[in-house]
Amino acid sequence: MYDYIVVGQGIAGTCLTFQLLMSGKKVLVIDEYNINSSSNVATGIINPITGRKMVKSWMVDELLPFAKTFYERMEVELGIQFYFSKPIFKIFTGIQEQNEWLLRSDESEYATYLSEIIYPEWPSVHAPFGVGVIQQTAWLDMALLMKTFRTYLKQNNALLEEKFNFDELTIGDQRVEYRSISADKIVFCEGYRGRYNPYFDHLPFSFAKGEALTVHCDDLEFPDGILNKGGQIIPLGNHLFNVGSTFQWNDLDETVSPEGMQALKKKFEKTCSLPYEIVDRKAGIRPTVKDRRPFLGASPKSEMVFVFNGMGTKGISLSPFFASHLINHLEKGESLMKEVDIRRFDN
Ligand SMILES: Cc1cc2nc3c(=O)[nH]c(=O)nc-3n(C[C@H](O)[C@H](O)[C@H](O)COP(=O)(O)OP(=O)(O)OC[C@H]3O[C@@H](n4cnc5c(N)ncnc54)[C@H](O)[C@@H]3O)c2cc1C
Repeated sequence: MYDYIVVGQGIAGTCLTFQLLMSGKKVLVIDEYNINSSSNVATGIINPITGRKMVKSWMVDELLPFAKTFYERMEVELGIQFYFSKPIFKIFTGIQEQNEWLLRSDESEYATYLSEIIYPEWPSVHAPFGVGVIQQTAWLDMALLMKTFRTYLKQNNALLEEKFNFDELTIGDQRVEYRSISADKIVFCEGYRGRYNPYFDHLPFSFAKGEALTVHCDDLEFPDGILNKGGQIIPLGNHLFNVGSTFQWNDLDETVSPEGMQALKKKFEKTCSLPYEIVDRKAGIRPTVKDRRPFLGASPKSEMVFVFNGMGTKGISLSPFFASHLINHLEKGESLMKEVDIRRFDN
């Protein structure tokens, strides 16, 4: 007898399950391992500032401190380090971008995020218009986090590694049954595969495929941080760098493409003109949503069947806070924020 069945162990299912387990709930996770899941492919960045206009992302003032505390607690419990505070070096592409930075950084609500402009002497990095330093940023080693939490679930007999089959789910009066497994509630955290879920087939996803490269570059050197010039370059150690990422809308093919590789090579070469070698390529589908807000709430078909999905391009910063928000709703009956409650799609 379980309190919860959680379907999916991406970052959404991981954050939800960890918080449920820490609050003493009995949880079974059902997950079919997918090396191309969005969480396995993700670059791993927490960045409060978005886009060309350099605006604060939605709710960052609450989300970021929550995520930091949450992931640090997870690090202690799992006995690993996967959360690294690192500045983002935004390389200006011209004077206009530099001016926009100066205007923004004058606004008091940006003071904690936008730091000084520097004119670095990093010989291998092309930055003639200077670099704005973004703070309160982090890089997560997602591969390590996802793998270690999976092992933790296995060690606690809390993981069923297989594809969830909807034909074997029965909704009773008080409980849900999956084959002979009984639980109070079931929460679906399936990422983009949530589009095939018959309990939530009304939700308006708008998927964004993303690709990334790992490159080897002998002489690329800069202080510990993340280079950002339309794409990101993240040092992984041993002269390896992650180069991310692309956006291809409504493409549901999880394989790497020649177009993706060309776009990423261009991103790298805009920043660094040293010779490099591509050593790995990956692709995944982001569970993006038309109104860019997560999906939380009960199925119109049953009050015991829930969704936690729609993390879009920012699953790493959104998942800890909204997992807690959903748990407060499930366990304490607190209302969901209307921006994330899937009842916003009821007609
Ligand atoms: C190239 C790229 C770069 C990105 N970079 C960043 C970044 O820097 N920062 C950031 O915040 N976000 C980033 N993202 C977005 C981020 O990856 C997503 O927001 C997040 O991973 C979504 O997590 P999820 O748990 O909802 O879905 P997923 O990671 O897709 O996990 C869903 C899990 O459910 C399982 N599953 C689904 N259906 C079933 C079923 N029927 N039975 C069993 N198991 C099932 C899947 O196998 C998978 O393990 C990036 C995405 C991509 C593609």
